Amino acid sequence: MYNSSAADGAANTEAGSRVFVYEVEGMRQNEETDNMTPAIRNSGSIFIRVPYSRMNQEMQRIARMGGKIVNIHLQDVNQSNGHLTSSESKAHDRSDSSTVIAKGEQNNSSKSAKNELPPQKSEKEGKPMTQAKPKADKHKDVPVNIYRPNAPYIGQCISNEELVGEGGIGTVRHLIFDISGGDLRYLEGQSIGIIPPGTDKNGKPEKLRLYSIASTRHGDRVDDKTVSLCVRQLEYKHPETGETIYGVCSTHLCNLEVGTDVKITGPVGKEMLLPEDTNANVIMFATGTGIAPFRAYLWRMFKKAEQEANPDYKFNGLAWLVFGIPTTPNILYKEELEEIQEQYPDNFRLTYAISREQKNPEGGRMYIQDRVAEHAQELWKLFQKENTHGYICGLKGMEGGIDEALTAAAAADGVNWIEYQKEMKKAGRWHVETY
Ligand SMILES: Cc1cc2nc3c(=O)[nH]c(=O)nc-3n(C[C@H](O)[C@H](O)[C@H](O)COP(=O)(O)OP(=O)(O)OC[C@H]3O[C@@H](n4cnc5c(N)ncnc54)[C@H](O)[C@@H]3O)c2cc1C
Repeated sequence: MYNSSAADGAANTEAGSRVFVYEVEGMRQNEETDNMTPAIRNSGSIFIRVPYSRMNQEMQRIARMGGKIVNIHLQDVNQSNGHLTSSESKAHDRSDSSTVIAKGEQNNSSKSAKNELPPQKSEKEGKPMTQAKPKADKHKDVPVNIYRPNAPYIGQCISNEELVGEGGIGTVRHLIFDISGGDLRYLEGQSIGIIPPGTDKNGKPEKLRLYSIASTRHGDRVDDKTVSLCVRQLEYKHPETGETIYGVCSTHLCNLEVGTDVKITGPVGKEMLLPEDTNANVIMFATGTGIAPFRAYLWRMFKKAEQEANPDYKFNGLAWLVFGIPTTPNILYKEELEEIQEQYPDNFRLTYAISREQKNPEGGRMYIQDRVAEHAQELWKLFQKENTHGYICGLKGMEGGIDEALTAAAAADGVNWIEYQKEMKKAGRWHVETY
């Protein structure tokens, strides 16, 4: 079972006195950057020295200024036997703040910082940072493409309900389809295709769109006869005409009348499957409809009827959902999620980032990456465990902020997060589905 105090209690005191060097690209010239010495250039990298205590704030500040952190090194604090050069000592005098290093200076200091970095665990022990085991084809029995676009399954819509509460933004519907008449089987984390009726602008039949399955393999009624989706109606302003455009398939689904037939293909996808290990830690980052596969996981893990249907599956690890939404009425499946949290406080953690209502430490909107930054130490500790899996689902582009937040925490232990994440991916422990 997950022990939160064990994860919390590992504050790295040694790390607290360290100074890191951020290599940053793309900082925009503005009032804030104008005050930096030396001044920000319009192109190329700049290097910012950051005390450990300010790593997260500094990352967020850099992001606000349009910068992208491309590398983080541990600063050589022991340089000259602890005697810092004058520019370095300035940074240390103001140990609560950060210093921009001129490019030339950095070239030396970066080199020495790199050279003097404590060897990562992998180097010390002569093994990779995570134990990437070659993936045996453990997914060979996963059902895929049972129904193809030229011969789709015709499923009837048996339920179509709004998920966004009053005052929320947009339309998101929970749809249930009857699949009892065929052979459509699927696993949690897979997707199905929907072929909308009609033709596209070239007069060709509309192509399928993929949707993550929001139900467990047994369906919402736990009778193996349904599949559920969580669909947001795509709505945007045409960039040139300003006209409101509605997406073809999402609008078709959101307006679908109960009793209507729909063309279904699939299932597809092996990227987002749940680990077989029932003691695994499952860390989920979702934005909006990215919740769909995680709802399926959580039902499988915690719903009573599911537990009865799966006597061989008893989840014992930690499931932690970090869920980004714009407003409280946009918290999809809120009651279900909070009920599970109430019933299983030791095994399920729920963290919301409600961007238009909550504030991040800088007073800006609270996005998922701010929550990740807030819990970065604890998340990093968890990701170092071999049985922890990370899942990202939802808006394209959400990975960047999550990576930045975890980069700082990993760097405090002298580990490059991006490299570490690659190892996790190789080991089948890092799963991303964004659209
Ligand atoms: C693996 C996977 C899983 C998915 N799961 C889900 C899910 O669970 N729920 C869900 O709701 N969706 C999901 N999607 C997205 C879904 O497949 C569709 O892309 C989405 O519903 C839009 O389809 P549509 O037919 O309504 O829009 P279309 O009519 O196909 O219009 C989409 C097109 O509109 C244009 N467009 C979109 N936004 C803008 C903009 N802001 N400005 C200018 N042009 C724009 C782009 O050209 C885009 O290609 C998933 C996608 C993938 C790949």
